[in-house]
Formats: sequence, C-alpha cells, structure tokens
Amino acid sequence: MAQQPTAQDSTAQHSPDPEVFRTEVAAFLSRAVADGSACPAFGAILPPEFHDQARSWQATLAAAGYGGLHWPVEHGGHGLSRAHSAVWYEECARHRVAPYLNLQGIVLAGEAIMRTGTDDQKQRFLRKTQSGEILWCQLFSEPGAGSDLAGLGSSAVAQSDGGFLLNGQKVWSSNAQFAEFGILMARTDQEAPRHQGISFFLLDMTLPGIEVRPIKQMTGDQEFCEVFFTDVAMPPDALLGATGQGWKVAMDVLLDERGAFGSAGVISLEQELDALASLGRDAQLNDAVATDELAQLVAQGQSLKALLQRLGSAPHAAPAAKLMRTEIATETNRLAAAMSGPDGMLNSDQTERLLYSPGMRIAGGSSEIQRNIIGERVLGLPREPR
Ligand SMILES: Cc1cc2nc3c(=O)[nH]c(=O)nc-3n(C[C@H](O)[C@H](O)[C@H](O)COP(=O)(O)OP(=O)(O)OC[C@H]3O[C@@H](n4cnc5c(N)ncnc54)[C@H](O)[C@@H]3O)c2cc1C
Repeated sequence: MAQQPTAQDSTAQHSPDPEVFRTEVAAFLSRAVADGSACPAFGAILPPEFHDQARSWQATLAAAGYGGLHWPVEHGGHGLSRAHSAVWYEECARHRVAPYLNLQGIVLAGEAIMRTGTDDQKQRFLRKTQSGEILWCQLFSEPGAGSDLAGLGSSAVAQSDGGFLLNGQKVWSSNAQFAEFGILMARTDQEAPRHQGISFFLLDMTLPGIEVRPIKQMTGDQEFCEVFFTDVAMPPDALLGATGQGWKVAMDVLLDERGAFGSAGVISLEQELDALASLGRDAQLNDAVATDELAQLVAQGQSLKALLQRLGSAPHAAPAAKLMRTEIATETNRLAAAMSGPDGMLNSDQTERLLYSPGMRIAGGSSEIQRNIIGERVLGLPREPR
C-alpha cells in the first residue's frame, strides 16, 4: 500500500494575511472539487460510505499544506492564526466540501491534546491526526450516562506499572468501527465526588479486550456503535492530563463540539435558507399552513444567523447555536417531506434527511440539555431541581 503523505511533506507557504489566504484556499478547493478529490460536506458525523474518500481527502489537504493550520509547527502544523482556520472552514462551507476527516479527531481530540497533552502525546498524535492516519472516535456516552455524563460507570483502575485496567461499556460512539483511537472518559476513583473521580484517556482501539458492535439506525446506516471493554490494559501514557481531572478536559471538548458551527456555520445556514426559500417557490405553495411554517423557519434561521454574527465564537453562543441549528434543521426536513407529498415517504434523499435529522437534536447534548445550559449558565436562572 502506498505511503500516505503527511503534513511534514508539505512545503506550503501561506500568506499571513487571512484575506489573501482566502483567495489561495478558494482556488485550491475549486480545483479539488473539479478533479473530484474533495470529499463532499457531511456535517458532524462521518457517514460510513464517505470513510475512504474522507481519509484520502484529509491526506490530500494535509500534503497540500491545509492540515493543522493553527497547530504548532513542531507538531506538523503551520503555526498560523485561528483566523486562518476560520477562513478554511468558511471556504469549505462555501464550496460544500468537508473541512476534515472527522470532527471527533481534528477538532475534539486535536484541540484537547494541544491544550492538555504532554510533548510526547502531541508528538505522537497531532501529525498523524491531521494526515488522516489516525481517525478518532468519542467514547463518552454510556447506557446509563448520556445527558448526565458524570454518572458514567466505566472504570479504569490504576495498575502498579502506572497503566490502567479498563472495564465497562460505551454507546452511540460515532465512527468507532473505523477509529484507530478514541477519546475516553472513565472513572478512576469510585470514592471521590462524581465529577472528581473521572479521568480522560487516549485509547488505542486495537488493544485486546475492546469489542466494537455497529448499531443500525432508522436510516439503515451504521454510523455509531456500542463499544465493550473487558480488562483492557491501557499504558500509562494513555492518560491525558492528571488523574481525576478528566471532567474539565471533557467539558472543554464538549464546548468545542457545540461551538463547531462558527462563522462557517453562517455560510451553510445561508445555503440552507436559500434552499428553503426555493422549496416554497418551486412548490408554488398555495397551502397557507405550510407557507406560514416556511416563513417561521426562515425567520428563525435569520435570527440564528444574526446571533452567530453578533456573538461569533463566544462560549455562550455555542448552546444557543447548537439548539437552534438542529431544531431548525429537523423542522425544515419535516416540512420539506410534508410538502413533497407521497414522495417524502419513499426512499429518497428527502426521506434520508427526514430520518437522520432527529438524531442531531440529541448528538452532542440534547435540545433539553442545551435549554438548561442557556437558562442556568447563560441567563443565570435558578437551577432545575436535581
Ligand atoms: C447521531 C448521534 C451520534 C452520537 N455520537 C456520539 C459519540 O460519538 N460519542 C458519544 O459519546 N456519544 C454520542 N452520542 C450520544 C449523545 O451524546 C447522547 O445520546 C446524548 O447526550 C443524550 O444522552 P442519552 O441518549 O443517554 O439520553 P438521556 O440522557 O437518557 O435523555 C433521555 C431524554 O431525557 C431528556 N433529559 C435528560 N436529562 C434531562 C434534564 N436534566 N432536563 C430535561 N431533560 C432531560 C433528554 O433531553 C432526552 O430527551 C450520539 C448521539 C446521536 C443521536
């Protein structure tokens, strides 16, 4: 098998001016779309049918100098500003191209390792993550711990060699069937208060004792999995950050996940709003109820766009953006299917979107949980009884 190119191979020199850089990126993406090397945009979760294309796209963009734009040069990045990365995401959205192999790797694991990792961990993972050699999954949710993550029961017991013995089960782990590594939350102290007994690990998915079972969704696809751990011996350097400090690491990861819409999200939202408006035009709507619903969705979309433009990537924008974006998408797909009449019930792209979108209300923290966060942490309302 041919060696995949790594970011180290890239000799690209990018303009320090983000707006000049934008022109370079746009030209690169236009070429990649034209020659078919670009992977189409797929959102927060990598669909299995895009796996190979997304891997080779990540390798291509890393080799061309577009991987790890704001990551440190010593770890295979380009040491550019976050404004450069924002330009990258915006132009990918404009060209309807996936900005990376998967969110769980480049954004969640990558940023967590940059924030908290040792030099060895950065050396080991960052370069290979951005070249697409390592695909990551996120191993947080469990059958008894989703919204209430601090209730997780998977245990990682410290061993005399400094390693940890892992037992337990995760569920809804997107892309786990393809992943080389997973970011994992596990309990290392059964006696400590719930949030303080949790540690964060970088789990090698090839270790003995790990069993991955894909789950079939109502779309018919298998995007996420159950993952079982039986006496998995994790080495000492699997630990990210200090023992018992995993809750803080994980909360920063969840902020990255919910805040992933950013300025690029405004562009894809605009594209969706255009599609929504043309849906009304194409259907030559004479149904007053559907027209009213369509107008409400466009108005909500415009409010979200204004919110994102006003708050940018401020941390308190993330729950509102996540909530509104996924609610609007679900309602849009429901309305579009209803407007398509019997076609909306058949096996079409429209049916696929209708069946897919409810999951987005749940992934990354459900809508109810986002409302709680907005109420309690952003607006300072009294906490719900717990
Ligand atoms: C498409 C998809 C992909 C996913 N990918 C991953 C992944 O890669 N890795 C991973 O770790 N997890 C993943 N998840 C799991 C996801 O994070 C959880 O499903 C989510 O956090 C909800 O947890 P739960 O399913 O246990 O539901 P529960 O927490 O049991 O909630 C059940 C219902 O009760 C509501 N509820 C719970 N608590 C409250 C409260 N305090 N106030 C009001 N309402 C409440 C919830 O909103 C929900 O409607 C994915 C989920 C989906 C749908």
